[in-house]
Amino acid sequence: MPKDTDQLRVRPHTKVHLHDWETAWAGTKELRHLKGDQLKQEAHEILQRNLQRLSQAQDLLWASDQYALLFVLQGMDAAGKDGLIKHVMSGLNPQGCEVSSFKQPTGEELQHSFLWRYGRRLPARGRIGIFNRSYYEDVLVVRVHPEWLEKQHLKPGHSLWRRRYDDINNFERHLTQNRTVILKFFLHVSRKEQKRRLLARLDDAQKHWKFSASDLAERAYWNDYVDAFEDALSATSTKHAPWYIIPADDKWVARALVSEILTDAIRDLRLEYPQPTQEQLAAIRKAKRLLEV
Ligand code: ATP
Ligand code: MG
Repeated sequence: MPKDTDQLRVRPHTKVHLHDWETAWAGTKELRHLKGDQLKQEAHEILQRNLQRLSQAQDLLWASDQYALLFVLQGMDAAGKDGLIKHVMSGLNPQGCEVSSFKQPTGEELQHSFLWRYGRRLPARGRIGIFNRSYYEDVLVVRVHPEWLEKQHLKPGHSLWRRRYDDINNFERHLTQNRTVILKFFLHVSRKEQKRRLLARLDDAQKHWKFSASDLAERAYWNDYVDAFEDALSATSTKHAPWYIIPADDKWVARALVSEILTDAIRDLRLEYPQPTQEQLAAIRKAKRLLEV
C-alpha cells in the first residue's frame, strides 16, 4: 500500500525544482487538518510512537545481522539537522549506532579522493550509521566554493560535477549491493525560516554558542546552494538510494516525518530474529535443566 510519506520521495530521473516542494507541508493523514499548537502536539506524539517502533526495529536489525543502515542528512545551515538527530535517534541503543559529523576536510583527507573519509565511517552490518553532512558536501559546498578543489589540484567544471554524481551513484550502488540500506534526507527550510532561526541564535544567550559568522556568509549564497541541491538531488535519487525532501519549517513535523520513513524502511526489510539450530535448542534445554535444579 502506498504510504503518505511516498510523496516526499524524489523519483529517479526527475528534475527537482525546490520551489515546487513546500517547506511547510504537513500533508500526511494524521497531520493534514491540524495547525499551530495542535499540529506540534500531534507531530510530537507521532515521533514518540515511532521512537518505540524504531527501537524495536533497531533491535531486530542488530539481532538479524543482515543489513547495515546508512542515514544521510543534508540541509542548509540552521535547517535542524542536529536537533533532528537528537530527537529521532534518542530511543536507539547507542551500541548499535554511530553519528559522524563531517566538517571541512583536514589536510590528510584532502590528500585522498573525496569519498575516502566517508568510507571509513560506514556502518557495519547490524548497525545504523548517521551522516550529519556527507559526501554530498563535495557537490554542494564545494560547488558553491570551488576554491576547495584547488587543494586537491582539481578544476571545476560541468564534467567534474557530473563525474562526482556518477562516483556517488556507483558508491551507493556498491553499498546497497552489499547490504547497506541507504536513506537520504534533505531538510527543506525556507529562506525566511532560516532568517528567523539565525536571529534566534543572536537573541537568545543560550543559543549564542550556535552562532557562526560563516552561517551569515553562506546565506548570501542561498541561490547557488539551491542550484547545487537541485542538481544533486536530481542526479542521485535512485531506486536503491532515494532522497526524501522533508518540509522542515516546523521542526516537529520534520522529526515526525523522518522517524516515520526510517522506521517503515527497516520494517519493510521484513527481518526476523535468527532461528536457533537443533544443537542450540538442545543446549538451551540442557542449560535450563541445570539452572532449575
Ligand atoms: P552546526 O553549525 O549545527 O554545529 P555544522 O554541520 O554546520 O553544524 P560547522 O562546523 O558549523 O558544522 O560547519 C561545518 C562546515 O564544513 C559546513 O559549512 C560545511 O559545508 C563544511 N564542509 C563539510 N564537508 C565539507 C567538504 N567536503 N568540503 C568543504 N567544506 C565542507
Ligand atoms: Mg554550522
